Amino acid sequence: EIRVRFCPSPTGTPHVGLVRTALFNWGYARHMGGKLVFRIEDTDQARDSEESYLQLLDAMRWLGIDWDEGVEVGGPHGPYRQSQRGEIYQDVIEKLKEGGFIYESFSTAEEIQQRHVDAGRPKESGYDGFDRDLTEEQKQAFRDEGREPVWRLRMPDEDITFTDVVRGEITFKAGSTPDYVVVRANGQPLYPLVNPVDDALMDITHVLRGEDLLSSTPRQIALYRALMAVGVAKRIPEFGHLPYVMGEGNKKLSKRDPQADLFLYREDGFIPEGMVNYLALLGWGYSADEDIFTREQFVEKFDVHDVNPNPARVDIKKAKAINADHMRMLDEDEFTARMIPYLEKAEVTSVPITEEELDLLKRATPLAQPRMNLLSEAPELLAFLFTADEDLEIQPDALKKLGDDPAAVVQRAIDDIEHLGDSDFTPEKLEETLRASIIDEMGIKPRLAFGPLRSAVSGRRVSPPLFESMDLLGRESTLARLRSFLT
Ligand code: GLU
Repeated sequence: EIRVRFCPSPTGTPHVGLVRTALFNWGYARHMGGKLVFRIEDTDQARDSEESYLQLLDAMRWLGIDWDEGVEVGGPHGPYRQSQRGEIYQDVIEKLKEGGFIYESFSTAEEIQQRHVDAGRPKESGYDGFDRDLTEEQKQAFRDEGREPVWRLRMPDEDITFTDVVRGEITFKAGSTPDYVVVRANGQPLYPLVNPVDDALMDITHVLRGEDLLSSTPRQIALYRALMAVGVAKRIPEFGHLPYVMGEGNKKLSKRDPQADLFLYREDGFIPEGMVNYLALLGWGYSADEDIFTREQFVEKFDVHDVNPNPARVDIKKAKAINADHMRMLDEDEFTARMIPYLEKAEVTSVPITEEELDLLKRATPLAQPRMNLLSEAPELLAFLFTADEDLEIQPDALKKLGDDPAAVVQRAIDDIEHLGDSDFTPEKLEETLRASIIDEMGIKPRLAFGPLRSAVSGRRVSPPLFESMDLLGRESTLARLRSFLT
């Protein structure tokens, strides 16, 4: 069985690269009928926050990425927050000590550097293995000086080679990775230890994570060998390093970049269906000529072996176009429901929306849905429907380019509408009547004929179709707006 994991550190808000990693793990698990484990790597008390943890949950749920084991849902390998696994780590550390896989290291950073300088090597060459084979007497002498040792993993003296499922065979040369610290002097285990220990105990088969972690893989493979030797790990998992996500300026997307913040996309009115599609394209393709696909289609086709190792690029224009396609795919009631939070937030409707407003919104949905790319466009597009006639403001640009005599056009429309019976106040009849009088009789160019009416009724240059809008407003309101345009 395939078992993958998503194991973020709860620092900051979820960013695009991180949720892309979550999505690819989820996609692979679902595609293979495997399991996704969601673990929280909260071992850095200074940087971790509960708020960030809650945001991670929010992000996963919003995108519809569910998990089989982990925080909130539990499972046989819990707890799933590293901050609660202290005893488990101490147990493993004891085994590694007994097996001689980790050793005490007394060297200070300054001493290590000095030794490099003395030997004519660059000062920052990294740890030199000095404490590897200290005798018991030497260790005792250091202790007597009051030194408190860290513990380092003994790296193998030969090359480390593995086959990355995304990148193919990768070799790290012998000696390129120094023995590294796995336990602090105060006994606290470090991330490079606990991450593989948890993956081993949680029986993870595939570690799919960002390319930024590639350099830690040889250390982890060495650790796995030790963990296997002491009976903690069953296997070395497969590794797959997912490509970097570059910003639009072709720079690596930094965490603070607004294009990186998942929640900004949500505020901008992306829907999760569109976001999932877009995130999936950051390093993967559905087919040569199709880049719109549903979550189900993604699961059906996604294989981590097909991920492109080259950096992926954020493309907001494309993201919006994809989102627009997914907006069209929603059924009408669903679309109505998705608009509500945006309308409430902008106070276009009451908070919460009233029955009456909801009714109107439902009727407006077929007009709005084909015209929107983002849910955040709803307030601007629909506000005029929810505004009292006397409060409607005509935007300055809606007063431009209205032809020679907009007042005459509006007056004519008022006259016509006053003569229309109630049952004739329909989009079709309105269009027929107003075309006949304004275009045919008054001789106004079609391009200019209805601009004044649109401005009067919606206060905007751009609105849903005019006659349908009038129909939604109703006869009284339409007349009131036309009249007030003339005053
Ligand atoms: N907690 C690590 C991070 O957020 C994940 C490391 C991994 O996936 O192995 O960077």
